[in-house]
Amino acid sequence: TRRKMLVGNWKMYKTIAETRSFAEVLGRNLGKLSAEMDFAVCPPFTALQVAKVVLPTQVAVGAQNMHQSKNGAFTGEVAAPMLQEIGVKYVVLGHSERRQMFAETDEAVRDKVEAAQEAGFIPILCVGENDAERNSGETMTVVARQTQIGLEKARPDGDAIVIAYEPVWAIGTGKTPSPKDAEKVIAAIREVVVVALGETEAAKTRILYGGSVKPANIAEFVAEKDIDGALVGGASLDPESFVAMAEAM
Ligand code: 13P
Repeated sequence: TRRKMLVGNWKMYKTIAETRSFAEVLGRNLGKLSAEMDFAVCPPFTALQVAKVVLPTQVAVGAQNMHQSKNGAFTGEVAAPMLQEIGVKYVVLGHSERRQMFAETDEAVRDKVEAAQEAGFIPILCVGENDAERNSGETMTVVARQTQIGLEKARPDGDAIVIAYEPVWAIGTGKTPSPKDAEKVIAAIREVVVVALGETEAAKTRILYGGSVKPANIAEFVAEKDIDGALVGGASLDPESFVAMAEAM
């Protein structure tokens, strides 16, 4: 059985001071974080080190992106050895905002997955169709392609990767697919993972849903057979709501 996961993606929110405040509130609510679940938050790079120090140990820290090279003339980028020093556990890779606004290709995401695993991180590989793709019935094709290429260089170890299905039209919009529709896509993603990693390993891989998740709707997604947790943006910024989601799962 797969451990349930709650991951907060803070995107470009929270200074160091705000990260400290979040950790303080979380620290007062530790009893509400089940020992049977995995928790993580992914702050901006500037707050990563502080987050690692001030967050309770049951809440792991993840980066929101990583370059695929170990170093080089890549102005503005961050490499695996820099994140290793901080002690991050996860790296979000191929988020739709990176794909759309920063032109990350399936192949770049694939190389990042390989580099992250080599560095000992667990990639959180994000996939998801946009509005136009959904309306033209391409959801399964797009998501299968992103997953398949994303896993091309991944280790054949189902525990070494997490996948997040985030329909682009559901991110920050308050709109979501029905839990049944999300389950259908996620079950299809798991079939692609079976082809990539084999049946036994694919059964271990956590696949999360993301897109307008909040305390009031998280339980119905996580109740689905193949949905192992959530990757949450907006609602993960408030520590009370982070804890409320942890309790609702
Ligand atoms: P929201 O939860 O704000 O819709 O964002 C989802 C997301 O993109 C998480 O990575």
